Amino acid sequence: NPTTVAVVGLGAMGVGMAKTLASKGFRTLGFDLSQARLDEAAAGGVEPAAALGDALARAEFVVFSLPTAKDVAGVVDEHFARIGSATGGRVVIVDTSTSEPEVSRDLARRLGQAGHGFLDAPVSGGPAGAASGSLAMMIGGEEADFALARPVIEAMATKILHVGPSGAGNVAKLVNNLLVAAHMITTAEGLKLAAAAGVSPDAVLRVLNAASGKSFLSDVHFPTWIMSERFDSGFTAGLMRKDVRLAQALAAESGVSLPLTTEAARLWAESGDTVSDRDDFTRMGAFKDPNETP
Ligand code: NAD
Repeated sequence: NPTTVAVVGLGAMGVGMAKTLASKGFRTLGFDLSQARLDEAAAGGVEPAAALGDALARAEFVVFSLPTAKDVAGVVDEHFARIGSATGGRVVIVDTSTSEPEVSRDLARRLGQAGHGFLDAPVSGGPAGAASGSLAMMIGGEEADFALARPVIEAMATKILHVGPSGAGNVAKLVNNLLVAAHMITTAEGLKLAAAAGVSPDAVLRVLNAASGKSFLSDVHFPTWIMSERFDSGFTAGLMRKDVRLAQALAAESGVSLPLTTEAARLWAESGDTVSDRDDFTRMGAFKDPNETP
């Protein structure tokens, strides 16, 4: 019998993960509040679940891909008693949403008391990585749950890092996305300077990517979505702003001062007039200002 996995949240990331799991032989139950998302997943071999509680009862593993920690905790709390009720065994939840480490720790503790496992397992690699099963996944949680969930995790991700105990995956993800937020702005500022100094930004971008100013953003996001003016990476500015807020909250809780990334966070928070929450986050890298003379 194939292993049953429920994927909750079939958005930009979840739909790719669900289809990948289905294509690799897992019995994959999918749930989303949106019928359009359910239909898209069904076209890729995912069984649409009419009732979330029913899917959570039947699944041996649950993958969450919801916007916020609040959404994840809401689903877990509403259906707590039904999780694993039809199998009778330990259910391991793999939460790929980018969340507060504190919420992950609380869920892991409460689910642990009920005999279930919870891994915070946020991801990097975008919708393309989700669709091809080649995400990077950073995991916080118990070694035994990680071992149980390994086949499910390996179906979705090729770069798998067990960072530490519960919450550690989300700490790593918030650090990662804080740097992404800063790199977006510093790279755009660098290219703006190149243009203002009379040198082609395309040529300077090629230099960065052959030299030490390179980042994943300069290497992938700028050529693919920003210089091309496509702005369709599949990650919204609203979700990026959420991650930046979570990173700032973590810094405050941890009692550290981070002057440069705090300034980047401020620029992200205060740019809503030009880049709305629904816009693709790559719009923050647009550096050509029509009002400025190059
Ligand atoms: P999304 O908004 O595209 O998808 C979220 C989905 O969850 C939507 O389809 C929505 O209908 C559904 N949903 C919301 N509440 C629900 C509920 N209670 N029950 C069932 N379905 C519900 O978001 P996304 O871009 O797929 O991101 C998901 C998570 O992954 C976020 O935490 C995000 O920060 C993170 N993430 C996104 C990317 C990316 O490139 N898009 C990359 C890495 C991590």
